[in-house]
Amino acid sequence: MRRVIFKGFCVAVASAGGSVLVAALVLSFFDATVGSLGLLMCIVCPLVIAWPASAHMFWQNEKLQAAHRDLSRAHAQLAAAHRRLAEKARHDDMTGMLNRESFFGVLERSRRKTDSGALLIIDADHFKSINDRFGHLAGDEALLQIVAALRGGVRSGDVLGRIGGEEFAAFLVGANAEEATRVAERIRQQVEMIRFRVEGDRIIPLTVSIGGTVCVPGASVSEMMRAADRRLYEAKNRGRNLVIFGSDKKDTEAA
Ligand code: GH3
Ligand code: MG
Ligand code: MG
Repeated sequence: MRRVIFKGFCVAVASAGGSVLVAALVLSFFDATVGSLGLLMCIVCPLVIAWPASAHMFWQNEKLQAAHRDLSRAHAQLAAAHRRLAEKARHDDMTGMLNRESFFGVLERSRRKTDSGALLIIDADHFKSINDRFGHLAGDEALLQIVAALRGGVRSGDVLGRIGGEEFAAFLVGANAEEATRVAERIRQQVEMIRFRVEGDRIIPLTVSIGGTVCVPGASVSEMMRAADRRLYEAKNRGRNLVIFGSDKKDTEAA
C-alpha cells in the first residue's frame, strides 16, 4: 500500500511540474506570468487529483498482477494434474503396465516408423483354477508375480502391456526371430521358476504359454496380433507352458 501511495505521489509531483511548465509556456505567448496564485493552483490541482487517481490506478494494477500470478500458478497446477491423469489413464492400475489401448497405440506408432521388431502374447495357464481353488486375492498375487517375471524377462526398452485379465503382450523393439524366441523362452522359464506359496507352505506351479511373431513389412498391427494369437492358441492346444514363435511360413518352438 505504501509503495502505491509513494508511486502516486511521484506521478502527482511530476504532473505538478508539468502543469507549471505548460502554464508558464502558454502564458508567455500572452506576455503574462504564472503568478503566485496560478503557481499554487498548478501544484495543488495535480496533488489533489493526480495523486489519488494514480495511486488508485497503481493499486488496481497490482491487484491485476497478483490475480495474473494466481492464474498462472493455477494453470501450471492444472497442466501438471492433467499430465498425471493422462499418464494414469494409459496404465493398468494393478500392474502399472500399459493398458490394452495404449499398448496398441505404441505398437501402431512403432509400425509406422519401422518394420523391425517382434510381438509376443503371453497368457497365464489355467489361471481360472487358481482363483477357483485359492480365491481371487491369491490369483491377484500370482498375477503380480507373473508380471514381475515378465519384466525380468524382457530387455530394457521393450514395451509391455496388459491386454486382458491374465493376458499380456510384449513388443520387442528391433528384435529378430532368434532374439524374440530367446526372450520369450526366458520369460517362460522365469515364470516356471516362481515358487508361488498358498495356504502357508503349499507351492503351486505357475506357467505361461507364449505365441509370437516378427514384424513383417506391410503387416498391420491387427494382422500381427492375429498371427501371434494363432501361435498362442497352438501353444495352449499342445499342452501349455510352451513358446511357439514364427512367421506364417516357419514356426519355432521351445519348452
Ligand atoms: P488357459 O490356460 O486356457 O488360458 O486357461 P485360463 O483359466 O487361464 O483361461 P480362462 O480364460 O478360462 O480364465 C482366465 C481367468 O483369469 C478367469 C479370470 O477370473 C482370471 N483373471 C483375469 N484377470 C484377473 C485378475 O486381475 N485377478 C485375478 N485374480 N484373476 C483374474
Ligand atoms: Mg489363461
Ligand atoms: Mg486369457
